[in-house]
Amino acid sequence: KRVISTQIQEEDKKIEKTLRPQTLNDYIGQKKAKEHLKIYIEAAKQRNEALDHVLFYGPPGLGKTTLAGIIANEMGTHMKITSGPAIGRTGDMAAILSNLQPGDLLFIDEIHRLDRQVEEVLYSAMEDYAIDIMIGKGATAHSLRLDLPKFTLVGATTRAGLLSAPLRDRFGVIHHLEFYTPEELQTIIIHSADKLDVTIDEEGALELAKRSRGTPRLANRLLKRVRDFAQVKYDGKITKEVASFALDLLEVDSCGLDQNDRNILLTIMEKFAGGPVGLDTLAAAIGEDAGTIEDVYEPYLVKNGFINRTPKGRVATDFAFEHFHLAR
Ligand code: ADP
Repeated sequence: KRVISTQIQEEDKKIEKTLRPQTLNDYIGQKKAKEHLKIYIEAAKQRNEALDHVLFYGPPGLGKTTLAGIIANEMGTHMKITSGPAIGRTGDMAAILSNLQPGDLLFIDEIHRLDRQVEEVLYSAMEDYAIDIMIGKGATAHSLRLDLPKFTLVGATTRAGLLSAPLRDRFGVIHHLEFYTPEELQTIIIHSADKLDVTIDEEGALELAKRSRGTPRLANRLLKRVRDFAQVKYDGKITKEVASFALDLLEVDSCGLDQNDRNILLTIMEKFAGGPVGLDTLAAAIGEDAGTIEDVYEPYLVKNGFINRTPKGRVATDFAFEHFHLAR
């Protein structure tokens, strides 16, 4: 299990509930998304209507579920949480939808993983607030239209391109969540430390932030790990020295790279002379699935200037060579 995986892990669940901000004002960063949502929420409240359907896309751990919860909170409604893979049959989707109360927010995580037929039930639900259900079998079968209360669907996915066009087109509001800056993460870490009763100074928080791959979930997890470390080895306070020592032990380097990232980069630099190397060739060379490389590892490496994607394949940048003290 990767310490720096941004997917939710068992150890996160205990702290995430406590650490989730409840209002837009407490939600750090994502300035553009926040400004837009503030206006949409205000307008919907003034008209006393449900908010338009919202799609959030971006890598895991950036705060999509948190934002959905905040919208429900700010709208004064309830949020029902489910996920694409959890809704197996059209009947399950119909049951979820017909149990919604007026104004409710339905959050569907990994919405790109909905079964196609299940997804089709959503089309009329989103557009007309109604679903058609089939009654009976064979010659006597007929469909019955069931009206639904006005609700808001909030979908989350890692990439907007994974959604089918008819589904994507039914969202009135689409927002891309961005990786956070070290300074934003530093603020998040200081808030989290406060809630968890951990003593950390600003430099300690910044050191953690720099190695958190732009991701709040990871920042909170590393804070928890380093807290244990500070408690056992030092007098409980997280300073820059304590943070770097603990993270070095966890094998998370000064840029937040771990063994897997190093493996990918060193393979491109040493086996393929810096690239270009095709994704499938690279995947075979390191024994990893091409989709996992593209979705899990690459976004951070590309965003931070370690890898360039070119038409001929992946290329390691000068910055990557410098980071590993290698010559081209
Ligand atoms: P996602 O749904 O995108 O995978 P989550 O919404 O579950 O991510 O966020 C993971 C954790 O990170 C949350 O529990 C929350 O504590 C923290 N978090 C995310 N975004 C923010 C933010 N903007 N400000 C403060 N904490 C955040």
